[in-house]
Amino acid sequence: MSYDPDNIFAKILRGEIPSFKVYEDDETYCFMDIMPRSDGHCLVIPKTPCRNILDASEAQLAACMATVKKVANAAKTAFGADGITLQQFSETAGGQEVFHLHFHVHPRHEGVSLRAPGVMGDMEQIKAHAEAISAAIG
Ligand code: AMP
Repeated sequence: MSYDPDNIFAKILRGEIPSFKVYEDDETYCFMDIMPRSDGHCLVIPKTPCRNILDASEAQLAACMATVKKVANAAKTAFGADGITLQQFSETAGGQEVFHLHFHVHPRHEGVSLRAPGVMGDMEQIKAHAEAISAAIG
């Protein structure tokens, strides 16, 4: 399967559609999921193209993991979370819907389940959550 440069996350990276930025560096970008399954649900992506875990380079994966760790600790602090769930889906059969590699970061609290997928969040709340995580990165 080849990379489609018109996927929605590529458009976000090009600034063609808006996103709630949490963090970026030279290799990666982190922004809020607009259908959050947890308060603070955000996505970490490489700035360079790849579909998923199956075609990602080791450099892309290493860069994403460094950002995942940074954002996970910040989200844990910002939300007073007890833990973090990290998700990655590859190809349709694996549950992937957007074909640019991404890692879901979920702050988790004891006894609280992830919400159902596919439900649009409140944009003001998502914006506030982005700012809270961002502030905790420093
Ligand atoms: P998946 O490919 O299954 O890992 O899921 C793609 C994720 O992208 C879902 O959690 C969607 O809610 C999220 N998503 C889709 N469009 C956008 C968007 N424009 N901005 C932020 N998140 C999005």
